[in-house]
Amino acid sequence: MTPPEEIAGAATAQDTNLPFPQPLVAMVSEGQLAARVTPSLLRRAYAARKPRRTSGPREKRMPVLVMKFGGTSVANLDRIRRAAKRIGVEVAKGYDVIVIVSAMSGKTNELVGWVEETSPLFDAREYDAVVSSGENVTAGLMALTLQEMDVPARSWQGWQVPLKTTSAHSAARIVDIPPANITQKFAEGMRVAVVAGFQGLSPEGRITTLGRGGSDTTAVAFAAAFGAERCDIYTDVDGVYTTDPRICAKARKLDKIAFEEMLELASLGAKVLQTRSVELAMRYGVKLRVLSSFEEQSDKAGTLVCAEEDIMESNVVNGVAYSRDEAKLTLLSVADRPGIAATIFSALSEAGVNVDMIVQNISEEGRTDMTFSCPTNEVARAEAALDRIKQDGHLNYAELVADTDVAKVSVVGIGMRSQSGVAAKMFKVLSDEGINIKVITTSEIKISVLIDRKYMELAVQALHDAFELDKAA
Ligand code: ADP
Ligand code: ASP
Ligand code: MG
Repeated sequence: MTPPEEIAGAATAQDTNLPFPQPLVAMVSEGQLAARVTPSLLRRAYAARKPRRTSGPREKRMPVLVMKFGGTSVANLDRIRRAAKRIGVEVAKGYDVIVIVSAMSGKTNELVGWVEETSPLFDAREYDAVVSSGENVTAGLMALTLQEMDVPARSWQGWQVPLKTTSAHSAARIVDIPPANITQKFAEGMRVAVVAGFQGLSPEGRITTLGRGGSDTTAVAFAAAFGAERCDIYTDVDGVYTTDPRICAKARKLDKIAFEEMLELASLGAKVLQTRSVELAMRYGVKLRVLSSFEEQSDKAGTLVCAEEDIMESNVVNGVAYSRDEAKLTLLSVADRPGIAATIFSALSEAGVNVDMIVQNISEEGRTDMTFSCPTNEVARAEAALDRIKQDGHLNYAELVADTDVAKVSVVGIGMRSQSGVAAKMFKVLSDEGINIKVITTSEIKISVLIDRKYMELAVQALHDAFELDKAA
């Protein structure tokens, strides 16, 4: 697993001087962490966290809470008012609140559509300039709504914080969140900082975005940088379920889920949290909760994403994830000699194609077939890249066959580490339903298969039944 980028403004739980609420779950080595966090940055993070006397009207720093509202939770002015009331409740409890907002639901899709219609091979810097704008609107409207409720609030766009990122446009990683600007406003009496999610500032001074679903990552990164007591992700479901409740009626809400399982589910398609947000929460020990913005809340509501040690009982398989947007590409009759895989996958990587599963067939007479999967919207780029190396004489193949009607279905559970037979059971369930498996990959805690897309929902439901996920451990 690739370790997340450093948030330089945050400290890690590895440093015992720092009052982080939970132990860091081992994901990167101590050496790696030490190399990535400089002492001065740790001091700054510590200073930002410690209650101290300020010269402003406020004598004491309040505890910080991060609340993130997704697209459906800010879809119109009524919902923004509803969310603002929730924020008001936390302010009344004594928190300084950092609110992260998404664009109104559907807005980002509309903006992406406009970009693609205007320029199919768009300049990624302008893509980011356009698609980041949805969050600017909701941030301003949320600040205004709070002000109308007499809650001192101010909105911040990413560049104003500034939320510094890499320059990987449309998939930028957060590098630093200097807390000083917002902390100063809190000291002056502001109670809510409303921050536009999903967006940041590149070293070149241009607006970046963090990849689809990136507001979750903005939220967790702020929670780490400000030492927030908790990061609450308000969405349109009341927690993390054993599978997407929209396609499986028997899906069961989990009170708690381990970071590792959530990380796998997210990366395998469960879009309730962006993968990077879970990586960051795990790394910085952020207390992360997913809950509904539509229901009355209690402190116990939703699902807590936490360390494995904090979960008493767990099923062997704890979740089923799916991803609809998969494509399978096969290069027929490629020369079977050293360096061929390197040539193919270097070209794909340079073209920005995110390859997932890879299978190489047994070779016959020095030739082989190479199959891989990638997101559907990257097929054209993959085809162009492979065609280019063929034209340039770097690779010879008979044909490139693309199957864009596939889906990936995965079962996930940390219990798989110590239990055998999960794969056999999964394959039997699919075969009993007459579903053909095209590609298989496994890791310590997950098994994924590529199947025809038309069977995706059936597969999810059958696996959910067979592994009895509707019942608690
Ligand atoms: P938001 O706009 O609030 O960020 P998203 O649409 O990104 O919300 O994520 C919430 C959606 O994630 C839910 O509506 C649900 O359909 C989907 N989802 C997929 N897998 C799961 C799961 N295991 N548990 C809960 N929701 C899931
Ligand atoms: N609005 C962005 C998206 O739809 C970011 C987010 O909502 O998390 O992907
Ligand atoms: Mg989301």
